[in-house]
Amino acid sequence: STNTNSSGDFNWSLNSDKCKYSQSENALLTNYTYNKTIVDIQQSHNNNNINVSTLTKDYNFKVDLKIPKIGVMLVGMGGNNGTTFLASLLANKNNLTFNNKDGPYNIKERGGFLGSMTQSSTLYLGKNQQTNEDVYVPFNSILPMCNPNDLIISGWDISGENMFKAMQRAKVLEYDLQEKLKPLMESYTPLKSIYYPDFIAMNQLDRADNCINYTTKGTNHDAYSIKNKWNDLLTIRQNIKDFKNDNKLDKVIILWTATTEKFAEVIPGINDTFENLLNSIKANHKEIAPSTIFATASILENCPYINGSPQNTFVPGLIDLAERENVLIAGDDFKTGQTKLKSVLAQFLIDAGIKPISIASYNHLGNNDGLNLSSSLQFKSKEITKSNVIDDMIKSNQILYPQSDKMKKKNKDVDHCIVIKYMESIGDSKVAMDEYYNELMLGGHNRISIHNVCEDSLLASPIILDLIIMCEFCSRITYIESGNQQGDGNYQQFYPVLSLLSYWLKAPLTRPGYEPINGLNKQRMALDNFMRLLIGLPPIDELRFEERLM
Ligand code: NAD
Repeated sequence: STNTNSSGDFNWSLNSDKCKYSQSENALLTNYTYNKTIVDIQQSHNNNNINVSTLTKDYNFKVDLKIPKIGVMLVGMGGNNGTTFLASLLANKNNLTFNNKDGPYNIKERGGFLGSMTQSSTLYLGKNQQTNEDVYVPFNSILPMCNPNDLIISGWDISGENMFKAMQRAKVLEYDLQEKLKPLMESYTPLKSIYYPDFIAMNQLDRADNCINYTTKGTNHDAYSIKNKWNDLLTIRQNIKDFKNDNKLDKVIILWTATTEKFAEVIPGINDTFENLLNSIKANHKEIAPSTIFATASILENCPYINGSPQNTFVPGLIDLAERENVLIAGDDFKTGQTKLKSVLAQFLIDAGIKPISIASYNHLGNNDGLNLSSSLQFKSKEITKSNVIDDMIKSNQILYPQSDKMKKKNKDVDHCIVIKYMESIGDSKVAMDEYYNELMLGGHNRISIHNVCEDSLLASPIILDLIIMCEFCSRITYIESGNQQGDGNYQQFYPVLSLLSYWLKAPLTRPGYEPINGLNKQRMALDNFMRLLIGLPPIDELRFEERLM
């Protein structure tokens, strides 16, 4: 079949016998043969016997090509990320130009959403037959994806400042840009949220003036009621319903970009199954965090939920609920600066056969996120998501990191430390310093030092956009296994834990029983190949036989 698509200044058409357009459904139907390599390991005495075989499975994918009207609700809308994200949408939509010390700066002309994979990166198509050059097209030109200009935004914050004042408080954007945004941002005010003082640092108390559960005016924890968590859940559900109805939306996506919470304790009988979780909310159990309430409300309202912070919102009971309700969820913690680089660099070293023996990661930052993380329980959440990022890479190379050494405690895998310090004067320009100390052959060593000024919210905002756009896109994809006699013949959605979004997440949530993939290039490869298969193209294998074979 031939499909045509256009993006900016070029059109392209596709000839593939793998996919066809269904006019009646306005959908693209694609046939894909998945090649699976199966490894069977049998242990006998001191040996592992490895048996490798291959298996193919045929799938039919269906992409609904109609882009729905999409609403986004941000939890923590008035924070540095929330305000910068909203500002970036409005600035692009209104084609703003502002002045900085270099003169006028037109946001669109300078690339718009730099740092967003969906808006500013490309996908490899193939070789130009005439010139042998590689041809790339914009990532979002392959199939219909939501335009950032069309997103309708709302959200909650425990601080009631309007979005202009909150943007000023964040101190991220240039003064003149803030002034240009003033009339656009002022009209946005956050909905009242839920504040359970145990979960975020004490130093956040001052901003909690916009809360559903705020009973009396006061400056201490007792002013907040934590006695009616079920009612809090109902209020959040009603907020979602109202937003959807008032704006006539087809879909709502909820994303947590609020303050990092402490980890919730996972307790059998409390938050291990969906029934226990719902009962524990009714019983006002102390381990029910605000983020648990938001995620539960979101799933019960059939809205995908994305967790951009490190806390373990997705306790087993919540995953159970998402499975039951068949609602997409993804997390945890945006992968922006230091960790993003680590997920490339550590993978490169280990794949090159060079052995990292220690990685020391220091951060100092002066934004409100940093202030919250200066409290030990909240830092702990961040430390966990930041530390786990090299686990799968270590496991992938038993030559550098033998299991037997570990058992004999001869060798620690990698000495890996994470330090975060609050330094007010640095503001949002987080400094990340990493030192990789690596072992080379013949007793040599190699030391790599990195000094990375992250500009936290400017890196996180395009990631928020990508997560929303890709989550929505994935929710329009269904599949059926060809010749599946057991199924009911209906197309089904992705498994609810949407690990395809791991590219943007520091500690990817996975299906229970599966380990996360952290390597950035592997994560990107999955996205590129998935887009290609949907339009009937084979995965990118870089074999390039045109050049290499006679
Ligand atoms: P921020 O402190 O500026 O913003 C958080 C906002 O959440 C604040 O406005 C606060 O009032 C609000 N809030 C707190 N509890 C709330 C609740 N229960 N309901 C609604 N609102 C609530 O922080 P930020 O820099 O915008 O970062 C937001 C989150 O994203 C943090 O958890 C941070 O760790 C995470 N994160 C940020 C980056 C980055 O590069 N910016 C990277 C990874 C993760």
